[in-house]
Amino acid sequence: MKKIVILGSTGSIGTSTLDIVSKFPGKFEVIGLTAGTNVDKLEEQVRTFSPAMVAMSDAVAAQQLRAQCQGLRTKVVSGAAGLVETATMPAADLVISAIVGGAGLLPTLAAIKAGKSIALANKEPMVMAGRLMQDEARKAHVRIFPVDSEHSALFQSMEGHRAVDIRRLILTASGGPLWNMTTEQMKDVTPEQALQHPNWKMGPKITIDSATLMNKGLEVVEARWLFDIPASQIEVLIHRESIIHSLVEYSDRSVIAQLGLPDMRTPIAYAMNYPERVPLDLPSLNLAEIGQLNFCEPDHERFPCLRLGYEALKTGGTMPAVLNAANEVAVQAFLNRKIGFLSIAATIRRTMDAHVSAEILTLEDALQADTWARGYATKIIEVLSTPSAVVH
Ligand code: NAD
Ligand code: MG
Repeated sequence: MKKIVILGSTGSIGTSTLDIVSKFPGKFEVIGLTAGTNVDKLEEQVRTFSPAMVAMSDAVAAQQLRAQCQGLRTKVVSGAAGLVETATMPAADLVISAIVGGAGLLPTLAAIKAGKSIALANKEPMVMAGRLMQDEARKAHVRIFPVDSEHSALFQSMEGHRAVDIRRLILTASGGPLWNMTTEQMKDVTPEQALQHPNWKMGPKITIDSATLMNKGLEVVEARWLFDIPASQIEVLIHRESIIHSLVEYSDRSVIAQLGLPDMRTPIAYAMNYPERVPLDLPSLNLAEIGQLNFCEPDHERFPCLRLGYEALKTGGTMPAVLNAANEVAVQAFLNRKIGFLSIAATIRRTMDAHVSAEILTLEDALQADTWARGYATKIIEVLSTPSAVVH
């Protein structure tokens, strides 16, 4: 039995992962779970899976969970130290990293350093400190298996091929819920509209990232570090139906792609069982029924966030961490109705413009850039949300 820890078990990826675990009794043993604040969901998971340890980042929530789980064998820990303790449990074979945002960097890096195999959904740490994560993974002889559907598709399309023969990675993007809108129309987009993803049901942060196309900007950076391929060889293609999950072009111009109906359980199960494929009870892809697949170039004018991703990668050092932090703050402000949709990109642009990139040699370097960018972006948002305020 593979002993697993799930970081972010109450989220969209976390619950899909547990769904797979339930379908294959005898294959996985859940020994650790973590969540942010959702006490009731984590309690339900504790009762179903009986993990030895669970962590909640929020101390008050942890206290409440302890009260609700009295008499059960599960140890409840809390805070950053609790997340790290759970991520590095000595018995764990595989850690599914599915926290949303930069909050996942510390426990995921700790798991890597502790020699755990990683199934990585949480893309933001790879954006913040990709080189550092890969250096540590090499040192600890750890493999990082992609869960993000595009990266899983690339990984699957590379199996049995030589890295030197790769010419291009082509990441597909659905274009999100606002693809057909003009910039003028985007001005008044509400969180409800932006949360209506056409193909995928995901957590709110990544859904807004899909609407701005920042998700693809983050994924370009993620692909750069996961596959050690320069940005100049990574392209993005809009593909509205999300059937082709990504493509790899080889030197002989042969292109290999991975296809499937959009359901995260396929890439999650692949990362959890690699190199085995397990039978999932999902509908089969019926291309005749779908009839048509559509493609076009991304529109960088209406969706400037994608280009910001490339730009951050080109500048390097702390810039991708700054891009990520400013985005997290801006997305939250948009969801809280403090700023409009177009101000997300504007906030990131201004934060990046104000940042002088430095090298990332340690985790602290990445966290420092993250903290600086959150502070700076917060100030910009205050100005944007109070029209009369003076800009300093
Ligand atoms: P979600 O919001 O549904 O779940 C996030 C999880 O992280 C929850 O368990 C939550 O309790 C926990 N969490 C949130 N903030 C935390 C904090 N500060 N400290 C500790 N834990 C915290 O998110 P999701 O959609 O499942 O996405 C998770 C990650 O996977 C993201 O990085 C996302 O980009 C990536 N991803 C998601 C999908 C998808 O289909 N949902 C697809 C590809 C990649
Ligand atoms: Mg993706």
